[in-house]
Amino acid sequence: MTDTHAPGAEHRPTSDDTRHPQGNAGSAEAAALFAGPGEMRARCRAFDWSATPLGPVAQWPQSLRTMAPVALASAFSKILLWGPDLIQIYNDAYIPFLGTKHPWGLGRPTRECWPEVWDFNAPIYERVWTGETIYLQDQLYRLARHGPDQPLDDVYITLSYSPVRDETGAVAGVLVTLIETTTRVQAQRLEAERARLLGQLEVERARLAYVFQNAPSFLAVLRGPDYVFTLVNDTFRQIIGGRDVVGRPVWDALPDLRGQGFEALLERVARTGEPFVGREVPFRVSRSPGAPPEERFIDFVYMPLVEADGARTGVIAHGSDITEQVLARREVERLLRESESNRQALEESNARLQEQALELELANQQLQDSAAELELQAEQLHMTALALEERSEEAEANRQTLTTIVEAVTDGFVAFDGAMRYTFVNGRAEEMWGVPGERLLGKTPREVWPAAADSQFVAMLERVRASRQPEILEGFAPSLRVPVEVRGYPASGGGVVAFFSDISERRRQEQAASFLADASQLLASSGDYQTTLRNLAAAAVPRLGDWCAVDVLPDPDSAVWPPRIERVAVAHQDPAKLELAQTLTTRFPQDWSRDTGTPGVLRTREPSFIPDITDAMLAAGAQNEAHLAMLRELAIRSIIIVPLVARERVLGAITLVMAESDRRFTEADLALAVDLGRRAGVAIDNARLLRDAQEANASKSQFLANMSHELRQPLNAITGYAELMAMGVRGAVTEEQRQDLERIRTSSAHLTALIGDILEFARIETGQLTYNTAEVPVDAALADVTSFVALQAEQRQQRFTHERCDPGVALRADPDRFRQVIVNLLTNAIKYTPAGGSITLSCALTGPAQSMVAVHVTDTGAGIPANKLEAIFDPFVQVHGSLRQKSEGVGLGLAIARDIARHMDGDVTVESEEGVGSTFTLTLPRA
Ligand code: ADP
Repeated sequence: MTDTHAPGAEHRPTSDDTRHPQGNAGSAEAAALFAGPGEMRARCRAFDWSATPLGPVAQWPQSLRTMAPVALASAFSKILLWGPDLIQIYNDAYIPFLGTKHPWGLGRPTRECWPEVWDFNAPIYERVWTGETIYLQDQLYRLARHGPDQPLDDVYITLSYSPVRDETGAVAGVLVTLIETTTRVQAQRLEAERARLLGQLEVERARLAYVFQNAPSFLAVLRGPDYVFTLVNDTFRQIIGGRDVVGRPVWDALPDLRGQGFEALLERVARTGEPFVGREVPFRVSRSPGAPPEERFIDFVYMPLVEADGARTGVIAHGSDITEQVLARREVERLLRESESNRQALEESNARLQEQALELELANQQLQDSAAELELQAEQLHMTALALEERSEEAEANRQTLTTIVEAVTDGFVAFDGAMRYTFVNGRAEEMWGVPGERLLGKTPREVWPAAADSQFVAMLERVRASRQPEILEGFAPSLRVPVEVRGYPASGGGVVAFFSDISERRRQEQAASFLADASQLLASSGDYQTTLRNLAAAAVPRLGDWCAVDVLPDPDSAVWPPRIERVAVAHQDPAKLELAQTLTTRFPQDWSRDTGTPGVLRTREPSFIPDITDAMLAAGAQNEAHLAMLRELAIRSIIIVPLVARERVLGAITLVMAESDRRFTEADLALAVDLGRRAGVAIDNARLLRDAQEANASKSQFLANMSHELRQPLNAITGYAELMAMGVRGAVTEEQRQDLERIRTSSAHLTALIGDILEFARIETGQLTYNTAEVPVDAALADVTSFVALQAEQRQQRFTHERCDPGVALRADPDRFRQVIVNLLTNAIKYTPAGGSITLSCALTGPAQSMVAVHVTDTGAGIPANKLEAIFDPFVQVHGSLRQKSEGVGLGLAIARDIARHMDGDVTVESEEGVGSTFTLTLPRA
């Protein structure tokens, strides 16, 4: 067959395509020239050379007859191209280059055999024809070795093209010697690419390390059986007082941490692979070399360090130093306890008061008894007086007895005849009135006390005289200028007797007790303390005084004098007076150089008390005439200023003033006011501490959110490049490398999920999660997620059943969050249930009046030990952590799920039996 094949369209060569048809043996010359072993010699012997431009072997020039056997004898791959058509003669070692073109290529013009590289080779042959030898190293040829329509092979070859001269000295052929170097070249390229990617990974790793190094939470990586520090960040170093620990076993490096329980924890985490979460763990550590250990508190996690092959090689300690928050909170708690004990003391004094009231009641009873007795005796006396008028001596003796009795009574006692004239006044009554009895006897009260003519007591006694019924009345007695209790009894002869006692002390105690009870309740109520103080001032007037003002120092720790001061509350029953006081303070501002008044109280922390303010005092204190006039108009009679104190610091002052009521403060009032100042101070302090603690917590959560966000970017780069490599974009990937890349991918995916969970969790903690509540049709929403879940269950050979719900039932929730929680519960069920198990999704109405919808996710999996049923909802808690592959979660899923559910007025609960299965239930309000 001498037809020319179109380049690239050749169809290769079945046996009939070769030029040695069966039975047509080569010439005797050929047999002699190509004598010897090997496939190609045999083919050359059998080949019909006369059909080629070379002609029969007998006519070949000597040069060709010499070179052809030389080429065939070589152990290197060689091909001889002879004549202007470059007819191919090649040896056994060359066969692999031809692929399916062998043996068809024998005796063919090389242009016809290698059209795919002709453009490259043609200029080379031209140069060789001029006598040049061309040497190429690792040259890439794209060869069609597998037949037409098959992909080309990339083949790297090191080769030489050398001229062969004929007898005349002219170039007549080209001898090509080749060595295939493909494997070596590709290996070199791969190596270079690998080095470049490693470099990139190193950059990403360095970025991560930088983030960890500068994180405000601490991080330490411990490796090996001795827990050698391989990485610690600056925050960790600060906690341990700047000591250099990297490269040293933990208990060598930090001997002061021994014996505080960390050894056992570390061992356990390393042994079981279960992470440990410690909250507010106290420990003692030296904060600088040689310094005595001090107590600190940390929140931390020990996490097992798991390599891609599942081996545990160490432990990561990660957490934050929360000493300051803990101390602040403890202080708050201590103060709360203190205020609680104050409250108890108050209750006790209330109880005592009640006891006293009871005693008084008893005494009263006795008095009534003695009054009755008295009445009896009065009666007898009267009778005796009438009957035995002449026996005056005896009468006098009786009278004496009577007097002795009534004088023995500690209350005031008076007797009136039927015309309401005083007939008897005991010593106590004289004492209380400050008037001798003789001045009263034979006169009526209206005559003696004209000012008390319309007194309620006189009216009451007249009622007793008329009705003959005893009566008791409490009230303010103008004649005595104190509150009194008066008991009137009908006496013989149409008269009346009366006992009266000063109850001002009892009144005061009752009022103080009731005021303090009210004040304590006010101060304990949450809300901002400014409102609380305003309510407190309002409650103090007029019970505690005619005026009440509360001043607060916004910066109690500032040393600047005069201090910044804010009047947060002022109360008076008369708004006109308030205005007057306001004018007074603006026109005559506080003189902060004085040691009296509010400045003195703030400076010394001692109360200021002036029981009786005289006009002379006003005059002495006034800055000028106008000032004095205004002070007089305010009519201040008595004043108490007490500091607001908490933790030995002055936070402000309460001013109490008596004015128009003309009352005066007593020592008892002062004690009450001091107590009030202390309680109010603690309330302010608590409110401020609480605010500070809340702010600190919020900034921690914000940091977590920011850090998780920042970690994502480098991770994306790691995942992206690993995927590029796995796709072969950087060159062919060996099986081993593919496995490594798969490990990088699963580890990155795990880390991405972990960071995603932490970010979500931080968003919840900082309240950044928003909820777009809507009506969610339960059955449809569940059907939505099941297709995805059913597939997963199937892959794990589990049976998944969705028991459909009433299509009419809807619940109130954010639809996306609802789906998130359900997917989370279903994914857990699949994760923790072995092959062959089953998972069921169902729902029901529940709660009072069926007001809630419950969605149940039931599995026949591992179950949860009874003592872990609550803990699994805590962040980072995993019960089956060590059994599962490490890439399946971090223990935040349920914490997030429950938080989301509770934000939507629902909950996530669990019932479980170990080895039998679990049912997780999401309840949400029905729409
Ligand atoms: P994670 O699944 O990431 O570990 P979760 O907060 O979702 O975290 O779950 C916490 C732990 O509760 C799990 O580690 C597992 O031990 C346990 N758990 C959750 N769901 C199930 C379940 N359906 N069956 C058994 N154990 C479960």
